[in-house]
Amino acid sequence: MAILLQRAGYRQVGIPQFADVLIVNTCGFIAQARGESLEMLESLAASLRPHQRLIAAGCWAQREPEALLSWAPELDAVIGTRSWHRLPQLVQALSEGTGERLVVTESRNMVMPEDAGVSGYARFGASAFLKIADGCSRQCAFCAIPAIKGPTMSRSLSGILDDARQLRDAGILEINLIAQDSTYYGHDLGMQDGLARLLEELVATVPEIPWIRVLYMFPGYVTPRLVDVMAAYDQLIPYVDIPLQHAHPDVLRRMRRPADVDAVRKTLDFVRARLPGVALRTTMIVGFPGETDAEFATLEAFVREQRFDRLGAFTYSHELGTPAGALDDNVPDDVKQERLDILMVAQQDISFEKNRAFVGKRLPVLLEGMGKGLTIGRTYRDAPEIDGLVLIYEEVPVDRMAEVVIVDALEYDLIGRLETS
Ligand code: SF4
Repeated sequence: MAILLQRAGYRQVGIPQFADVLIVNTCGFIAQARGESLEMLESLAASLRPHQRLIAAGCWAQREPEALLSWAPELDAVIGTRSWHRLPQLVQALSEGTGERLVVTESRNMVMPEDAGVSGYARFGASAFLKIADGCSRQCAFCAIPAIKGPTMSRSLSGILDDARQLRDAGILEINLIAQDSTYYGHDLGMQDGLARLLEELVATVPEIPWIRVLYMFPGYVTPRLVDVMAAYDQLIPYVDIPLQHAHPDVLRRMRRPADVDAVRKTLDFVRARLPGVALRTTMIVGFPGETDAEFATLEAFVREQRFDRLGAFTYSHELGTPAGALDDNVPDDVKQERLDILMVAQQDISFEKNRAFVGKRLPVLLEGMGKGLTIGRTYRDAPEIDGLVLIYEEVPVDRMAEVVIVDALEYDLIGRLETS
């Protein structure tokens, strides 16, 4: 969207007060995300000047445009996630308009970046997120994404490789491949083992980029071939992110997710055996409708047994238009919160123990931010924005890789010292 606006002659400004048009890219995935989007809209609306226009874009705008207009009366327009490429026309229409509020939402399939003539990545420092597909063809009972975005649409291999070349030329050191379900990549294009093939092509095309990370793999689709490809190249970092959501087969069946927990155990064992030093991340949901104490106890035991390197957990929230939305949301909020706390405390101890095992070791770290006597970075075990950091108590140049000796460990972060020799 930013590139399209720039091409249409608009200029980005650093502070909202200086902008003629304010655009909030909303998230409509779960209640917490919607709350954050609304908070941002309200804070911008509170200091809106007469000539300024306020637009809500993104998933929530796609999902509930009319509701959004009534919750945020200062909004001038909403534009859904399937119409993102029409943003310049919308801004133009607002500037020429009569003050009428505009709604642009369509039920068409997602428009891929290359179809709109733009790249499919977002850069920050020496790192980038690179989109490989959008939408989701799975039908998890709790999830609104298939309704918001439609079925999986994979980007063309050539479009992704072109983007990767641009990122290499810009000196990017880490590519994070993203999709709602990365393991589905290429399926809709008729490709066999699409993700494995894409990874091989990426390694051959941009051998200069040291870290290529894959996020969001679907359980049951982390195939031996995929793991073998990851094992074969140093560039494909041993980081495996499989959101499992639960570990009791009955809950998984109600969630409409793969329910063979023994198969999941076998996959995790295989990944650990084939990818030495692998960082395993997962996500869990507590308080899904009907979750009993015994079902939760199975989940807690699984988390303690598997000792994931990274674990995120959420309390279940009813989402409009999802199959689970028709179920009785019968786990009380305080029980959901208590279960979340139990998982997070268990994981905190696991994470601390795992971090302590790194003290004294030397690791490559991507240095990213610096100031006030501190430099921060990440190891291959830390995906941007969600995992831990390495803290170095001195100011050094950033956006580069450096060898760092780990001198201390916190629950989620590590303390490091730059290796100078
Ligand atoms: S795979 Fe992920 S995005 Fe797709 S329906 Fe399930 S939870 Fe939602």
